[in-house]
Amino acid sequence: MTAAGLSKKFNSLGISIELVESDSIGTVGVGEATLPHIRFFNNTLGIDERKFMRETCATFKLGIEFCDWGKLGDSYIHPFGDYGQPINGVDFHHFWLRLLQNGHKPRLDDYSFPVLAAESAKFQLPGPNSLNIGSNFGYAYQFDSNLYARLLRRYSEERGVTRTEGKAVDAVQNPETGFIGSIQLEDGTNIAADLFIDCSGFRGVLIEQLLETGYDDWSEWLPCNRAVAVQSETAGPSLPYTRATARDAGWQWRIPLQHRTGNGYVYWNKYISDDEAAHQLMSTLEGPALADPKQLYFKTGKRRKLWNKNVVAIGLSGGFLEPLESTSIHLIQEGITSLIELFPDSTFAPSDAEEYNRRMDLNFDRVRDFLLLHYVATQRDDTKMWRHFQNMTLPKSLQEKIEAWQERGYLLRYEQGVFLPPSWVAVMTGQNLVPVGYDPRADQMSDAELLDKTEAIKRDSRLAVTETPDHGAFLADYIGSAS
Ligand SMILES: Cc1cc2nc3c(=O)[nH]c(=O)nc-3n(C[C@H](O)[C@H](O)[C@H](O)COP(=O)(O)OP(=O)(O)OC[C@H]3O[C@@H](n4cnc5c(N)ncnc54)[C@H](O)[C@@H]3O)c2cc1C
Repeated sequence: MTAAGLSKKFNSLGISIELVESDSIGTVGVGEATLPHIRFFNNTLGIDERKFMRETCATFKLGIEFCDWGKLGDSYIHPFGDYGQPINGVDFHHFWLRLLQNGHKPRLDDYSFPVLAAESAKFQLPGPNSLNIGSNFGYAYQFDSNLYARLLRRYSEERGVTRTEGKAVDAVQNPETGFIGSIQLEDGTNIAADLFIDCSGFRGVLIEQLLETGYDDWSEWLPCNRAVAVQSETAGPSLPYTRATARDAGWQWRIPLQHRTGNGYVYWNKYISDDEAAHQLMSTLEGPALADPKQLYFKTGKRRKLWNKNVVAIGLSGGFLEPLESTSIHLIQEGITSLIELFPDSTFAPSDAEEYNRRMDLNFDRVRDFLLLHYVATQRDDTKMWRHFQNMTLPKSLQEKIEAWQERGYLLRYEQGVFLPPSWVAVMTGQNLVPVGYDPRADQMSDAELLDKTEAIKRDSRLAVTETPDHGAFLADYIGSAS
């Protein structure tokens, strides 16, 4: 992604890009669910959506279904889209809260087209008129990330990127500044450059092994530290959403692609052994496994500086937050976008790196808060892991956000961060964290008028779903047609 993004922007400026990869090390081989922003990345590169979906075996994604998070037996969908529509400038959820407090039992999901479409396994592309209830939503993809990497490698090479197969084993640093002048490969080849982008995965070959930048360990908040992943045959209809099911010592993902389903169990090894986690994963697959399960180890957190000297860490080398909300690929995209905007000249003004680090720190903080919300907005106390989250001291930013919400449904806005208010509404209400009050401006109409308006939104949402094709049929038709 980084080579592709940079080659698109800098190819014509005489900046040469060399990509070093090691087949013997390989890639992490997971990461299949994304956020809607990836569409803008692909659009910027000029990649045709149909071709992309064909080549990466992608499906459409309307959101994530969370099962057993608020309490055992609960489920809700975090959709990529608003609930209802603001009424006279007031967010819709305040009117929903008013109905609730007046003794009605409205289901917030009934006012969300993407939730209703996902529940019915239906999909259509949003139309041009975002005032239309069946068009006011976003969507992402579930895809084979190895195939995506292959597509982007070809894309980058076509735009002048040189790819070198080899393992970086050493580097030469300027004795005064510590800046890297060149890296050395196992076969003795030296590669000199002005700027090095470390995309070496969890190893952090340059940012950590060489520069010893340091790591902010966030295990105190997000203690899951392992995952076991396996692919299985798809059973049942083609689903336009990812599922995350809470388990005793973590949670399990299910990501439906065109040709198979990705599955994994993310867990805290303090409360479950690797063997037991693998056993639980394998015994809950919906179709036969296509390979042996793969074990992964990680520590939640991020590098103290994602840009240090002339090295910028992008991807897992920069940090990792569990894939509960499919955020890692998005953080890569944020890294690339910020690097393009702050691309240094040969003087390496410290302010570029400082601004880059400030932005990326905020992006990581925001994702951390949102993930942690899933673990603390819950009534679950049935296992040791769930009890661990009770009475936890939260990051101040999250504590303030929850307090403001609980009072009257107000959502403090973050300066930076991928998740907008509707996402917070989805998880908070989905996990039964319902405010005691609401915005007084929601009292602007009579009960009868409010019921009329909300019923109309519900009816329109349902009608739009009735007119929407099945996801599988739409997808087959879409990728089958010429691009
Ligand atoms: C369990 C799990 C589930 C995930 N699920 C999701 C998800 O659903 N959605 C999402 O957005 N993200 C997800 N992610 C994150 C996602 O997988 C990664 O962000 C993404 O794959 C990018 O990884 P990477 O390129 O940083 O690292 P890697 O895939 O590890 O690639 C590292 C590259 O560096 C090369 N390399 C390493 N060392 C050297 C060396 N010494 N010399 C030369 N080359 C070297 C390797 O050959 C490889 O090409 C998940 C991660 C995990 C662990």
